[in-house]
Amino acid sequence: MNDVEAIRFAQRVLGLAWADLPPRHRELLEAIGAEGWDATVRPLGTYADELLRSAGYWGLDLPARIGRDRARGLWIPELRVVLINAVHPDYEGLDRPSRENALARVAWHEWGHALSLHGATREDVAAGQKLLESLPSELADTIRLAGYLRREYTHEVVAEVYALLMVRRRRGVIGRPQWVSDQVDELIRRVVGWIQ
Ligand SMILES: [Zn+2]
Repeated sequence: MNDVEAIRFAQRVLGLAWADLPPRHRELLEAIGAEGWDATVRPLGTYADELLRSAGYWGLDLPARIGRDRARGLWIPELRVVLINAVHPDYEGLDRPSRENALARVAWHEWGHALSLHGATREDVAAGQKLLESLPSELADTIRLAGYLRREYTHEVVAEVYALLMVRRRRGVIGRPQWVSDQVDELIRRVVGWIQ
């Protein structure tokens, strides 16, 4: 897959991932202004920095840029756009269906971020550590070891659980998974309007 094909592939996957969202979530995302996306082959921190600067914002400082250069996806609240890296090294060697699943999961995660940043309260953000600890340890470790700040935990929990719920929904599985704690369940219901 060359760069042009990779971008086209990602755009198509994002369209399908968007169409899979529950209609109420699409409406909410549209109300927030989070229905825009862009697939790129450039490192996301560098690309986001350029987009922000050309729109008159400060841009990202060096650590933020370097950190985000490694990201598979990014929600930029200022620009109301989800950026997807169409050629992230994580996708190397994946067959098409696996690549599609991986990209869709990134998109759902980023839309989860948009919903979380919009709907989570200051108290929710302050409860990040507790929320993280209520997740199964494997999932909690993924977030903990990724180097997020404590104040980012809540948004990561919402985004990641949201993406996992969407993966299940696409498979036709609905309802609350056993591993979602009461606390996280309440948060997701309130912030996103899940769980069906
Ligand atoms: Zn995230």
